[in-house]
Amino acid sequence: MLKAILLKRGLRSDRFLTRPFLKLPFLRSFIVALDAYALLQSQYWPSEDIRALQLERIRDILIHAKKKIPFWRDKLAVVKIRPEVSFDWDDFLRIPITHKTDFKDKPVAYFTDRDLFAQDHITNTTSGSTAEPMVFFQDRYYETRSLAISRRILRTVSRSTLLPVIQVRARNRRGFDNNESLWFFAYNHNHLKYRIDTLYQLAKSLGKPFVLYGFSSYLIEIARLCSERQVPLRPVAVIATGEGLQPGQKEYIESRLGAEVYNCYTTTELGWLAQDCERHNLHINSEFAYVEIVDKGGAPLENGKQGRVIVTTFDNKIMPFIRYDTGDLGTISMELCVCGRTLLQLKIFGRQVDMIMLPDNRTVPSLDILGVFEKRHQLIRQYQLIQKSLDEFLVKIIPEGDTIENDQLVVIANHLCRNLHSGIKVEFEIVKEIPSTTSGKKIYFKSLINSSNLSEDVPKP
Ligand SMILES: [Zn+2]
Repeated sequence: MLKAILLKRGLRSDRFLTRPFLKLPFLRSFIVALDAYALLQSQYWPSEDIRALQLERIRDILIHAKKKIPFWRDKLAVVKIRPEVSFDWDDFLRIPITHKTDFKDKPVAYFTDRDLFAQDHITNTTSGSTAEPMVFFQDRYYETRSLAISRRILRTVSRSTLLPVIQVRARNRRGFDNNESLWFFAYNHNHLKYRIDTLYQLAKSLGKPFVLYGFSSYLIEIARLCSERQVPLRPVAVIATGEGLQPGQKEYIESRLGAEVYNCYTTTELGWLAQDCERHNLHINSEFAYVEIVDKGGAPLENGKQGRVIVTTFDNKIMPFIRYDTGDLGTISMELCVCGRTLLQLKIFGRQVDMIMLPDNRTVPSLDILGVFEKRHQLIRQYQLIQKSLDEFLVKIIPEGDTIENDQLVVIANHLCRNLHSGIKVEFEIVKEIPSTTSGKKIYFKSLINSSNLSEDVPKP
């Protein structure tokens, strides 16, 4: 029965739960609660059972993708995979790895399910850790299962009860399934210092314990402000997303907010991929996504070896992500965790809080500039922002077409000035290539300033 729910068989099938149904709040809540119930049990199932479930779900999404989406029809034809006839793990490994750039010069109808798209779709943009801006689409099937996963995360961090969550300005709207949860917007990192009392009032108005969720860099700043101004915010737990937290930074937040910090690993386009358990090991949401580690050439690596993190998610039918390169580096461990969960453990490397120092002694997390480039995903294939001095920036751009008009560059420069500082100088260089790090990771921000100038007592990455 639980297996049928997770596999979306029988009455849980997407064939019955069409979009109009999932738009009815009471029915949607029921489905989310049902999924969450199954997920709370399955995290302790034997790993062979989970692996079998993953293969079935991958096969389902491939059958759908092949039938409905030209991009996948063509891709599977090349490697002669017919999931509707037979499919095993060896077949899976023959599917070429997909990259953000594969979707860029194609019409949307080529890589989405046109019927679902016409009914309803959620549009979002990302560039995340790969510095390659792109647009992508999600559907209600994905959203429902994603909310059930978020409920499982909340159960872990708030120990059995479901507490309200204050979500600090996550740019994407990945939310928690909790009616009492609230969004708290700060225009950017710098804005937090003017809004910290509002955040406190918001927490107070809840009249009950709550969980705080946000980007790591924002949480560090909130912790700093609360300590400096003696704001007794006191969340029960903190969930950090976006940039990975380094050990010193985790303890910094914990000591100033008086709450335990849980890391989670998410990407805008793929959603909740893994999160800390009570023992602070990052467990993969294996019922929602299949995560692999491969080497530079795409060959699978054995457990424990560091390589590229490749992900297949099972629920987004409108635009499936199958063997998709996240641009992150990680390792998977088969070790058993004392928490009792059998879900595999993941470690992510190279995601860190990068702060941009500015002339007026402000520091801004590099995450705050992503929007400038994501908004222009049609013009930009890849970019890198290099800070040469406190007020001089160089932007390297690989354009989507042959080049970028000067007017557009002026608009980008103005947008950067608004997000960073009005007095900065911005130069551009149109290039054909932006070198990755030696480990193959693309870097969107690089500072040439000596970081010993940083005056804050916040731990540096
Ligand atoms: Zn654990």
